[in-house]
Amino acid sequence: MSAFDGLPPLREVIRTHGLAAKKSLGQNFLLDLNLTARIARIPGDLSGASVLEVGPGPGGLTRGLLAEGAGRVLAIEKDARCLPALAEVAAAYPGRLEVIEGDALEVDALAHLAPPIHVVANLPYNVGTELLTRWLSPPEWPPYWASLTLMFQQEVAERIVAQPGGKAYGRLAVLAQWRCEARIALRLPPEAFTPPPKVSSAVVHLRPLPEPRWPADPDVLSSVVGMAFNQRRKMLRSSLKGLGGDVEALLAAAGIAPTERAEQVAIEQFAALARGVAARTSS
Ligand code: SAM
Repeated sequence: MSAFDGLPPLREVIRTHGLAAKKSLGQNFLLDLNLTARIARIPGDLSGASVLEVGPGPGGLTRGLLAEGAGRVLAIEKDARCLPALAEVAAAYPGRLEVIEGDALEVDALAHLAPPIHVVANLPYNVGTELLTRWLSPPEWPPYWASLTLMFQQEVAERIVAQPGGKAYGRLAVLAQWRCEARIALRLPPEAFTPPPKVSSAVVHLRPLPEPRWPADPDVLSSVVGMAFNQRRKMLRSSLKGLGGDVEALLAAAGIAPTERAEQVAIEQFAALARGVAARTSS
């Protein structure tokens, strides 16, 4: 029986094209088209929008995005075995899907797609975290992307939306929430995937704010926060020694006690600290 888009069900696609999941590529597929449609609706109205999908695999989420009205989808897939299946999806939605075979870490999506771009991805954990870090530090703000809708292991998703005061709070939370709204939009048990991964997953949705919540230089903030959380058990007067000079005075000016640990420090305070560091360098 064909699905709503006239294409075969995903189990059949996988059988026809011999897409046995490869662990090395983090392949845990979503085969329920109702579920992929739900994920495709997370960014909001996609009518006529540009969408970048990373890791389309057999095309379940791709079909959801196109059915939701995306005007143009650019899909980057590393596994050449998936290309014939994706070509069938492209044929069902003429002129709306472009597939690039390659590593998403190396392809320049902006050479193919005009902003604003909604980014949607169900990716292996390590690739997803690396791409998220890059998307969070674009050359300009507001960024070229209109939203990020990304599947992660639940534990990573919790780290992105974490608040100060707990183990999950770290560099990812600060960099994500400093200039984005970040929320967990959907939680999925392992059985939602074929084959099921070992842990639960969650879809994180991020929208860029027009401006950061508190001013700071992005590179300085990133390095200060990285240094602070690298030795998260230590007091900041010790973990931030690498900043040189009078670290305690810098902390005091940012309203941070020198005996505090990184996970107790609010984003606003990290931004103040980054401003202090930048002012010291420029004076
Ligand atoms: N989007 C599909 C779905 O939801 O069923 C597949 C998801 S599967 C978790 C991850 C997909 O990302 C696989 O198709 C895999 O081949 C692809 N992939 C892995 N690493 C990649 C990379 N560096 N660049 C592009 N695609 C990659």
